[in-house]
Amino acid sequence: MKIIMLGAPGAGKGTQAKMIAEKYSIPHVSTGDIFRANIKNGTELGKQAKEYMDAGKLVPDELTVKILLDRVAQEDCANGYVLDGFPRTIPQAEVLEDALKKLGDQIDYAINVDVPDENIVRRMSGRRACLKCGATYHIEHIPPKQEGICDTCGSELVLRDDDKPETVQKRLQVYHEQTQPLIDFYTERNILKAVDGTKDMKEVFNDIIAILG
Ligand code: ADP
Ligand code: AMP
Repeated sequence: MKIIMLGAPGAGKGTQAKMIAEKYSIPHVSTGDIFRANIKNGTELGKQAKEYMDAGKLVPDELTVKILLDRVAQEDCANGYVLDGFPRTIPQAEVLEDALKKLGDQIDYAINVDVPDENIVRRMSGRRACLKCGATYHIEHIPPKQEGICDTCGSELVLRDDDKPETVQKRLQVYHEQTQPLIDFYTERNILKAVDGTKDMKEVFNDIIAILG
């Protein structure tokens, strides 16, 4: 099963993608996580990506598409995957579609996690991330057992640089301009499914399971 998660930054794509990955035993592929790992390791890709990310902009398609196609070509993706944060532009969606077509394959579902802009800034300022293992928490809605510490790996939790309110506004603008058109793109292909992302995360997950079967 090949799934795409769509939605504004902070809608809960990553939270749901991790739960989907576990339930269906498929890898969770997040381009944002791949960039953050590169930043942490000081790679050239990380250095280039960080400039765009900190400004709330998208990393250029030339950099993003290659890392995604390399990742999904790996052995563990042979039986499917859940993409979180990719595609974010129509050209990215077209490249993915063409690459899959060459293999006689296609995306099965594009799930749009729908959350209005009003809720997003609050969600993002409360998000705490573990940069070591990628786990995500929310200080009010989904707190870690011990404040500031990751339940999974014990590392320190941080407020991401790009989750500061002024950057979040920019990211929302970029989302509406460049990513939201993907809703029509996948509606035309009859694979778009929408869920109400304002519900409790377990309820959102149940709605997604009802779609995926
Ligand atoms: P995205 O991957 O779409 O950017 P995340 O999954 O990281 O979003 O979620 C953004 C923030 O909102 C995180 O702090 C997360 O813990 C929290 N969150 C996710 N889903 C819900 C939900 N259904 N209700 C309340 N908070 C949520
Ligand atoms: P995320 O972790 O998905 O919220 O992504 C964090 C940031 O990484 C985004 O705001 C972008 O700057 C960058 N990024 C992640 N995925 C993509 C993508 N598919 N295309 C362009 N930029 C991306």
